[in-house]
Amino acid sequence: MTSVDKDILVNLRHTLHSLAEESSMERRTGEFLRGTLESFGVPRIVSGEEGNGLWAVFAGREQGPTVLLRSDMDALPIAETGDLEYASLTPGVSHRCGHDGHMAIMLGVANGLVKNPPLCGTVILMFQPSEETGQGALQMLSHDLLREFSVDYAFALHNLPGYPEGTVVVDEGTFASASEGISVVFQGKTSHASEPHLGVSPASAVAQLILAINGLAQLETGLDDHARATVIHARVGEEAFGTSPGWGVVMATLRSYDTLLMAKLEQRIRELAMHIAAANRLTYNIALHEVFAATVNDSSAVSYILAACEKQGAPVTVPGKPFPWSEDFGYITDAYAGALFGLGSGEGCHPLHSDRYDFPDGILPAGVSLFLGIVRSITGGM
Ligand SMILES: [Zn+2]
Ligand SMILES: [Zn+2]
Repeated sequence: MTSVDKDILVNLRHTLHSLAEESSMERRTGEFLRGTLESFGVPRIVSGEEGNGLWAVFAGREQGPTVLLRSDMDALPIAETGDLEYASLTPGVSHRCGHDGHMAIMLGVANGLVKNPPLCGTVILMFQPSEETGQGALQMLSHDLLREFSVDYAFALHNLPGYPEGTVVVDEGTFASASEGISVVFQGKTSHASEPHLGVSPASAVAQLILAINGLAQLETGLDDHARATVIHARVGEEAFGTSPGWGVVMATLRSYDTLLMAKLEQRIRELAMHIAAANRLTYNIALHEVFAATVNDSSAVSYILAACEKQGAPVTVPGKPFPWSEDFGYITDAYAGALFGLGSGEGCHPLHSDRYDFPDGILPAGVSLFLGIVRSITGGM
């Protein structure tokens, strides 16, 4: 099933690793992907809206279902460490989430589909920027290309430390959590530190809101609910001993297995901010950041993944509960029947986003075979 040589996949992964670019900056990465797809002879390549996303489209001779496969493209603002021969060429940025491996796998899939096009229907490969900031999937979903097709199934994989190399981790229902960042800025009035009564300090409000957020999951959710509210940053005014502060900010990350519960927690923070601001004579504003929908796996999409695993003898693990991390593939499973699966990248390896993580080359062929197996079972072909 793997029609591209492993050495070629490894070389592609290493080049992509060296090109590491942060979310929304994936220009050189996009150019390299385009050049490689062209060299394979991919029949139709379409640029994303922002110029850095990319589509590769394979049409079968007969009418049939449309399958979308997604690879993310972005690296992280983490400095490259160690002495890799293919180290990142971008200072302070490196592929510590393994998206270099995802792209190499998807290029392998493209090569396989050039050699053996789908018999019926359409296969769309989506190279998506800005996964880490939760923006890329939505950008790609609004692209004109998707108006041409009615997508029947969408699939993506993520490499997953903590599981043996090549093990497929998949489950029906919620697979990855919803999450969002929320910041509350209180505005008051500065004054001389000797005359705090002449100003309006947000210090007490910031303290009250931190305590309220820390108690949120405990007080606002039931025993069966899974939710977490984590204060990640807070600040009042400037570091000036002569000045009573005039503004303050509290930032928190909310996580939940359930998108409705997430909305409830967000609403509760909005109410708390309003009441605390009023009690402290402050104005306030609220902003949301890096909002990720929960990734909810469709049962028929999962059955295609399981069938491909069985056919190829790939070991499968069912985690039994959703993962606490988030994936912007959640917007894709909101739009289409789809499923995200994990591909084990080793039990003893460093965790994702650690400054030592490097995608294991050994699992590249398995990723290609699994995607091709899934696609073949839906659109036919060898
Ligand atoms: Zn990541
Ligand atoms: Zn990732």
